Amino acid sequence: SISDSGSPAAGAPGASGAPDLTPGELIGNFVGGADTAPSGDRRLPVRDPATGAQVREVGMSTADDVDAAVEVARAAQLEWAAMPLAARVAVMYDVRNAIRAHLDDLARLIVEENGKTLDDARGEVKRGLESIEYACGLPSNLKGDFSADVARGVDVHSTREPIGVAACITPFNFPVMVPLWMLANALSCGNAVLVKPSEKDPGATVMLAKILTEAGVPAGVLNVVNGDAVAVNALLEHPGVDAVSFVGSTPIARLVYEKGTAAGKRVQALGGAKNHLVVTASADHDAAAAAAVSAAYGAGGERCMAVSVLVAVGDEVADTMIDKIQSLAADVKVGPGLEDGMHFGPLITEQHRDKVAGYLAAGAEAGARIVVDGREHDRFGGEGYFIGPSLVDNVTTDMSVYTDEIFGPVLAVVRVDTVDDAMQLVRDNPFGNGAAIFTGSGAEARRFSTETNIGMIGVNVPIPVPVGWFSFGGWKSSLFGDSHMYGDDGVRFFTRQRVITTRW
Ligand code: NAD
Repeated sequence: SISDSGSPAAGAPGASGAPDLTPGELIGNFVGGADTAPSGDRRLPVRDPATGAQVREVGMSTADDVDAAVEVARAAQLEWAAMPLAARVAVMYDVRNAIRAHLDDLARLIVEENGKTLDDARGEVKRGLESIEYACGLPSNLKGDFSADVARGVDVHSTREPIGVAACITPFNFPVMVPLWMLANALSCGNAVLVKPSEKDPGATVMLAKILTEAGVPAGVLNVVNGDAVAVNALLEHPGVDAVSFVGSTPIARLVYEKGTAAGKRVQALGGAKNHLVVTASADHDAAAAAAVSAAYGAGGERCMAVSVLVAVGDEVADTMIDKIQSLAADVKVGPGLEDGMHFGPLITEQHRDKVAGYLAAGAEAGARIVVDGREHDRFGGEGYFIGPSLVDNVTTDMSVYTDEIFGPVLAVVRVDTVDDAMQLVRDNPFGNGAAIFTGSGAEARRFSTETNIGMIGVNVPIPVPVGWFSFGGWKSSLFGDSHMYGDDGVRFFTRQRVITTRW
């Protein structure tokens, strides 16, 4: 559904009998298994986007705070890595159960600080759990190779070993799922982790770290350092950090990749997106319209796999799709994430809401036709950072509504004449995260899947986020580095290989 990321995993919304893990008024760091206050006095407000009210503050770490946390992580990592595989597996299973038991606590905190709907927040935790479930298979994930008698009496075997301490720097839009994408494999492979969540909604990430520690991850193995660019730069420069896993916008991903690799670290940095949904004449247009509404407006478009461009092949398809989407959009309910029946909630900040509204104004100015205008929603301009769904027709590739990642509930329609034109549009776009085609033709689908330069493709599936045992990653400026997130690539990223040649 539009209000739920959807999950093949079964979930157990948990009434936890455990202690209240909700952060207090000041969110500090979580280092060595304990709450610690950042040493400086810089603080930022954390707001409930549905009301605009400040719910807590978050402390900004200094380079000294990062230094202290790295020291704790380095010491804890050695013992964690030395634990037998069976013991680490047992911890990962306990972690999996603890997250399920706290699913509702996590989801409610996500709603409070991020604004998404409760269903969507639950879906986020469940999708993150897939990465933990994959990581429970660590005995097979970490298996090496063996060749006997490569020369007379000589055997060769390989091992996968932890890289040490990993920094995980995450965006605001998935404060639980994205940290889980990273830390599941990082931890199971024997590394220690420092998570640096988004300063906009850090609470759920801190809660997650406490849940994992309570479930048996030893103190100091999983730490959270809160902060902004100061903390990120300290992590990127610190000689005690061996690897950096980043998810966020493309300009920051590029910067993190460049700085981190210049400092000799292994870096994977996933960036932004502009995901196209191509609809051809042979498609099921009702299914395509429902998919477009869900993928463009779900989570208010604040998903890196959100569809933001609908490419209609031929004017007849364009007119049909616009009619159908316009009528579905009229039923989309926008309101506080804890209220029943809402399809999506507010955007993350007031500035971001204004920026999204600005793209609509710029599009109209440049000659696009605003078919559905989110600024006309009755919650727009009131309490909370709400804006309704928008549909913009006759968008051309020179308009900012096309060129920029808007990260809001705005669907741009670009009209093309042929499937080849649609594929060329996708190929020419600088982003390469996801793309989908809705078609009734296997031949069209196959060409689209194999001849576009996109990391994740959906065929009659609008948001093709891979399940936890595949890997997630875009191409072009949607990813810097050479490994994708979670699954096999995640194991490779968080380990290094050793090859041992033996003669007795
Ligand atoms: P962002 O780039 O603003 O922030 C991401 C992280 O970088 C945060 O922890 C933030 O504190 C830090 N940061 C911000 N500015 C920095 C700077 N100048 N120097 C160092 N660190 C800095 O991203 P966001 O707004 O939190 O998240 C939305 C973006 O993330 C969108 O572009 C979205 O597409 C992208 N995203 C991508 C994926 C993916 O898998 N490719 C997934 C989720 C989100």
